[in-house]
Amino acid sequence: MTTDSQLSRIGQISEETEFFTPMPAGYKPGRTKYVVVFGTVMSGLGKGIFSSSLAKILQDKGLSVTPIKLEGYLNRDSGTLNPFRHGEVFVLDDGMECDMDLGTYERMLNQDLSRLNFTTSGQIFSSVLEKEREGRYLGRDVQMIPHVTGEVKLRLRELAIASEADVVFVEIGGTVGDVENAYFIEAVREMSYEEGPSNFCFVALTYVVAPSALGEQKSKPAQLNLKLLNAAGIHPHIIACRASAPVNKKVREKIALFANVPMERVFSMHDCDSVYLIPEMLRGGGLDAAVLDLLALDDKIDHSREEQARQVWNGYIQRYRGATQPVTIGIIGKYTAVRDSYASILHALEHAGAICGARVEVKWVDSAELNEENVGEGLADLGGVIVPGGFGFRGVGGKLTAVRHVRESKIPYLGLCYGMQIAVIEFSRNVCGIAGASSTEIEPDCPNPVIDLLPEQKHIEGLGGNMRLGGFDIAIAPNTLAWELFDRQSLVRLRFRHRYEVNPKYLSVLESRGLVFSGRSPLHPIMQILELPRATHPYFIATQAHPELSSRPLRPQPMFVGLIAAAMRKMGIVCSSFQSRGDSAAIAESESQMHPAPNLG
Ligand code: GLN
Repeated sequence: MTTDSQLSRIGQISEETEFFTPMPAGYKPGRTKYVVVFGTVMSGLGKGIFSSSLAKILQDKGLSVTPIKLEGYLNRDSGTLNPFRHGEVFVLDDGMECDMDLGTYERMLNQDLSRLNFTTSGQIFSSVLEKEREGRYLGRDVQMIPHVTGEVKLRLRELAIASEADVVFVEIGGTVGDVENAYFIEAVREMSYEEGPSNFCFVALTYVVAPSALGEQKSKPAQLNLKLLNAAGIHPHIIACRASAPVNKKVREKIALFANVPMERVFSMHDCDSVYLIPEMLRGGGLDAAVLDLLALDDKIDHSREEQARQVWNGYIQRYRGATQPVTIGIIGKYTAVRDSYASILHALEHAGAICGARVEVKWVDSAELNEENVGEGLADLGGVIVPGGFGFRGVGGKLTAVRHVRESKIPYLGLCYGMQIAVIEFSRNVCGIAGASSTEIEPDCPNPVIDLLPEQKHIEGLGGNMRLGGFDIAIAPNTLAWELFDRQSLVRLRFRHRYEVNPKYLSVLESRGLVFSGRSPLHPIMQILELPRATHPYFIATQAHPELSSRPLRPQPMFVGLIAAAMRKMGIVCSSFQSRGDSAAIAESESQMHPAPNLG
């Protein structure tokens, strides 16, 4: 409900002063509530994990929620960022290339997000500059305040309208005090004033240090950094203290006193062995009750739904905890030192392991180090092997050697995007005898480009830039491994991010020698899944897509489940809930428990 006082605040601002407060058509102030999460002291505290866990416990109560990440960098999206420095590039179904935190939100909320859920300074400034050229600022000088901040407020309100969410979770990138994020903080400060009381909840995530030389937790860095937030005009309603061990009462009391936040709203958020345990930890601490109270949302909650949602989630936690059979999967990659560059793969392995009863351990194998002499030893004792996505020619030789070895030695294999292209090159060279078979990404002038850039296909189906991005349908051939894994569905959807494809000119020779293209684009000659027949290999499957991006705790991705099950069969174990072809029943059951997603148009 919009109160008179809210209307008068907004009316006054937009008409009688020079402040720019854009209200998109159909926006009703007060209808949507906002929770804003700030990071203090340092980056890397897990703001996304915290914010998504908090959003989840409100979602469990029957509230519809949607997140937005405000990222300070000037890139328009994360597409050009190096995963070695920034973590993996997550791709949404609509093709948005974004920060890996969006993956955390999708997994935690079991919800597909869209480009409205991700904003960078690059997008904000581009849009302001375009409006300036169009003369939309009515002759005024265009300024950080009110125009740039106005653009931020507009994005938040547009998301509120499109999602129809009860609560929008705003995660402000970086750390309070960073120059590049300061205007986001100013925008939410202004907006909380405009929307009026009980519509904004500010949560500061802070860090409690525990120097080993002292052997105790110290609150001073947290105190000083919370003052920076006060200086920006934000008085947090809630403080969540990150630390490795539970934050003791004395430290929380100090933080409460110096930050002027009641003790019952200063929470400990210490390390857990799985991020999926955090929602229950926050609920146990009473964070959900505090937010509901501050946002006056008590009447909207549904206790029976909450109980049911908790049971479903706890079912996953129990499966995860009970999954004790060690299974080692080798990941042959380039950025093996940085776990964040393969974050979604690690999550997909955890989800698949939980449903199969396996505790998956990852062995990182640097492709640049792998050769014909050491491959047997390098891949010995592995239950299965993954060649993940990648770009460029570095380490390709090692990847080809690894794929030949797993094909010939019948080690379960899952190829992801580049991992499918490598499988095609390897099969072309070593089974079909096609001399010089390669990808034009690796060797632009190779005599037999079995993987090639196919511009006419990009023209038809490509989105933006020059990559094929986002979710596309895959027609699955009946009676194949893929068909069994996907529960005999004839059409499935996965997310893609690639430039090169299998060259259709070579299809007939590849197929004649036994390679099966079990998933294709329904519209174009684009090969999307390949496999070896089960009579010739226990588990050899690869996809041009990134199936790891759509794996969720409540919806483990079938190609990963198949890999873990095959690895266990190799060890002589039939996994508890997953039979040979795939635990379609358990997966379908998990899927039916998905939370309803707000409609993002
Ligand atoms: N480099 C390959 C391509 O562009 C594979 C991309 C990837 O693995 N994401 O097609």
